[in-house]
Amino acid sequence: MSDTAAKCYDVAVIGAGMAGMAAALFAAERGLSCIQVGSGGGILFASGLLDLLAVQPVAEHRLWLSPYDALAALAREQPGHPLARVDPASVRTAFVSFVAALTSAGLAYAPLGERNSNVITSIGTVKTSYAVPLTMVAGVDALAQRLPCLLVDFRGLREFSARQIAQTLSDTWPALRHQRVDFPGFEAMPELYAAHLARALENRETRERTIALIKPLLGDARAVGLPALLGLGQSSAVHSAFEAGLGVPVFEIPTMPTSVPGLRLLGALEAVMSARGVMRRQLSSVRCLSFDGSTATLALEGVPGGERIQAGAVVLATGRFSGRGLTADRQSVRESILGLPVQQPATREGWHQSDFLDPVGHSINRAGLVADEAWRPLNVHGKSAWTKLFAIGSILADQDWMRAKCGSGLAIATAWAAIEQVSQQLRETQAL
Ligand SMILES: Cc1cc2nc3c(=O)[nH]c(=O)nc-3n(C[C@H](O)[C@H](O)[C@H](O)COP(=O)(O)OP(=O)(O)OC[C@H]3O[C@@H](n4cnc5c(N)ncnc54)[C@H](O)[C@@H]3O)c2cc1C
Repeated sequence: MSDTAAKCYDVAVIGAGMAGMAAALFAAERGLSCIQVGSGGGILFASGLLDLLAVQPVAEHRLWLSPYDALAALAREQPGHPLARVDPASVRTAFVSFVAALTSAGLAYAPLGERNSNVITSIGTVKTSYAVPLTMVAGVDALAQRLPCLLVDFRGLREFSARQIAQTLSDTWPALRHQRVDFPGFEAMPELYAAHLARALENRETRERTIALIKPLLGDARAVGLPALLGLGQSSAVHSAFEAGLGVPVFEIPTMPTSVPGLRLLGALEAVMSARGVMRRQLSSVRCLSFDGSTATLALEGVPGGERIQAGAVVLATGRFSGRGLTADRQSVRESILGLPVQQPATREGWHQSDFLDPVGHSINRAGLVADEAWRPLNVHGKSAWTKLFAIGSILADQDWMRAKCGSGLAIATAWAAIEQVSQQLRETQAL
């Protein structure tokens, strides 16, 4: 550990998943100096679709057209759910702000309205989500109206099959056809990867050759669906060029993780962090966190000599098991950095239902930190662990984001609410 004097920030965000990114963004937008620790690797698994809330109650798998009606139902039926504890006006503002930041970094989304959208997935199922990248929007209309539509894939691209999607949807969408073409310049390659093709399509000649291959296959198609590989950093321009060249609306379908939309999301968020002046420690993780009066000290590991950081407030956005915010042994679940108490079933036998597919879901997926009304995690005495330690995102208890289809919603909304508290507390401290 280096003994050099630690720098002091208004807020340190631990975690660079969706919740940590949102918190760092909102902190920077409020003019707070902010440092973020952790790698954003998990975002690579994202589809680019930002779910707000689609299913409530989870046990009945009731799907909602309006995420705001779903939030109202959640508030009535499960008021302890962290998403139900954020007022809907703040949820709305948080989403608008998050999506505007992504758009400013070149990752454009359709305007946010009152409704969820149905989107085709890479296996031909339908996913209900809220914020949809512009490159995927035409697929929402094509699916809703069951338009005559052509799905195209590329020989050698293992992670996406137009045939499988068309077969899965054939009963309800007979006007969906599929075709396979060779990707220009990659004909000799036995196996193709979406990220390579996405980069290749940013080259005008490759793009024009690809469009020229697809155009004769159009027939009566009134829309064309492609795997999500229309450019990496320039997806809007590549998508527009395909629509202009083919003369019909074109839409992307997310591929299996890790996906091009995940790469785009990570790239856009990193650009946003950099543009807003957020300091980042992507190769480090927080080994230890201590509090002394009004200051927290974070001891980092992952870089030679380590590093110490000081902050006036800390946001814990370390996720669940895959993020490593929670760890489990054969007896119980622990919070990884401070050993904060985790709300969990009394015994391991209570972790899972006997039926793996039980619609109620598994109790272990609702384990997590309990936070007070200001988003401060509670210690063993039921009091806030430190007045300026806040917990957000999937590490919070009483939610099963995967089943409720509220992953980004939970992350973005709780980040917004916690940063409001951080900002208020720092103002109060400065006024003293
Ligand atoms: C495969 C997959 C697909 C998904 N698809 C969608 C989708 O289509 N739509 C949608 O809305 N949501 C989707 N999500 C969910 C969405 O990304 C969630 O919001 C998210 O996974 C939970 O976010 P989080 O930030 O709370 O936790 P995580 O994403 O788990 O992030 C936790 C972060 O904390 C860091 N961390 C942990 N411990 C430390 C430490 N000691 N020091 C520093 N850093 C630490 C980790 O490195 C990581 O950056 C998907 C998630 C997955 C896994």
